Amino acid sequence: MEYDVIIVGAGPGGIFAAYELVKESSQLKVAVFEGGHVLEKRKCPIDGEKIKSCINCKSCSIMNGFGGAGAFSDGKYNITNQFGGTLYEHIGKQKAMDLMYYVDKLNLQFGGEGTKLYSTANSEIKKLCLQNGLHLLDASVRHLGTDINYIVLENLYEYLKDKVDFYFDTFVDEICHQDSRYIVKAKGKEYDCSRCIVSAGRSGSKWAEKLCEDLQIPTKSNRVDIGVRVELPAEVFAHLTDELYESKIVYRTAKFEDLVRTFCMNPYGVVVNENTNGIVTVNGHSYEDPEKHTENTNFALLVAKHFSEPFRDSNGYGESIAKLSNMLGGGVLVQRFGDLIRGRRSNASRIQEGFITPTLKATPGDLSLVMPKRILDGIVEMIYALDKIAPGTANDDTLLYGVEVKFYNMEVEIDEHLETNHKGLYIIGDCSGVTHSLSHASASGVHVARCILGQA
Ligand SMILES: Cc1cc2nc3c(=O)[nH]c(=O)nc-3n(C[C@H](O)[C@H](O)[C@H](O)COP(=O)(O)OP(=O)(O)OC[C@H]3O[C@@H](n4cnc5c(N)ncnc54)[C@H](O)[C@@H]3O)c2cc1C
Repeated sequence: MEYDVIIVGAGPGGIFAAYELVKESSQLKVAVFEGGHVLEKRKCPIDGEKIKSCINCKSCSIMNGFGGAGAFSDGKYNITNQFGGTLYEHIGKQKAMDLMYYVDKLNLQFGGEGTKLYSTANSEIKKLCLQNGLHLLDASVRHLGTDINYIVLENLYEYLKDKVDFYFDTFVDEICHQDSRYIVKAKGKEYDCSRCIVSAGRSGSKWAEKLCEDLQIPTKSNRVDIGVRVELPAEVFAHLTDELYESKIVYRTAKFEDLVRTFCMNPYGVVVNENTNGIVTVNGHSYEDPEKHTENTNFALLVAKHFSEPFRDSNGYGESIAKLSNMLGGGVLVQRFGDLIRGRRSNASRIQEGFITPTLKATPGDLSLVMPKRILDGIVEMIYALDKIAPGTANDDTLLYGVEVKFYNMEVEIDEHLETNHKGLYIIGDCSGVTHSLSHASASGVHVARCILGQA
């Protein structure tokens, strides 16, 4: 089979690349290869009754399939250069912002009309943060919500399915560069193209790493973020979340001068498991539909660990810590803040007696047996700092789930077209290490398509 463009991965990066390539009756022959299922077949078997924890499905429905890792996410599109990736370093700040707004427009067009766009600009909260040693980062946030995000994906698929050849449940094993063509090998067959866009996401990071090794594409890897997910009564953060929805707040610890930041805030949301290559970590999301709201808000507190030579395996370091929590808890651990401070493990009765009902069934335990002291000290310091702007954060019953690990893919050497040292081979989205979010990954897809079309 011969194509003009083959895209590997149907996450936001791959989907928006495909959209931009085929919109307005383009003549290009485009194929998308996706290791996971078509959207409607993506069902995580955990039902809380028969199946209570992750059973390591061959293709994880949370991470893989049409929509990628973002399909059941909170659908928060942060329109900013301040976090979510470093796409702007490759294409410039203005272009990156324009692309993110363009994606926002498409999201509205495909079903997101009526959802709210929040903004941190000139907010009183910014002042309150500064007065308490906390820094609120600037962003506009489109919150689609898990439900509307799904509808947008359904509509995008409906639009694309007759214009693009989709190969679902088809994991690409290998990509070879022969003369000026790329041979994509999957399920024992070979497909040929002149341009290949790799958008394999976080779940495809190991595979993409091997691809870079095989094709001698230079990479570097030196960062991992480690922390916990905090869950507390929604009222405690309501004055922030009602106005901003998501507030990205950064704090510099007094003890080690490490940076701790809030990440992925989910008002009235739920805490969930995340499975990355068989390691269970924690994440969260929330619904736009008020009927699906819980009484709790959750967010992560993360500490970034940067390593210098000779150590290169920053993800391996994060995995080892997550494995430790899996070893002790059979999955994710949960601990009351009060128990952590008193140096004792939480047990089922202490959690039950608390005033917060956990939204994730996790094993009560002791996070101090899992997390490096320096990281845990930073998190505790930040909880007390947040308590000043949101009193109640440092209450005994506040729940901490661990561990939350944000793996960063190796950073691939790509130019301003997101093209590798192989002409016609582009690596975009989260697997490039350049993006870490829905908006940046989607924008990278649009950009690469425009480069291929000669319109960038
Ligand atoms: C639970 C959860 C909640 C999140 N919430 C948010 C949020 O609210 N806001 C935000 O900005 N970000 C969020 N994120 C992160 C966001 O989902 C990712 O940044 C984004 O999806 C990255 O897009 P991508 O296209 O680069 O990769 P992905 O979305 O990971 O898609 C990659 C796709 O490639 C496929 N693939 C991988 N390797 C191969 C191969 N060899 N052959 C074929 N297919 C392959 C995978 O199956 C996958 O479907 C969340 C992530 C999770 C897991």
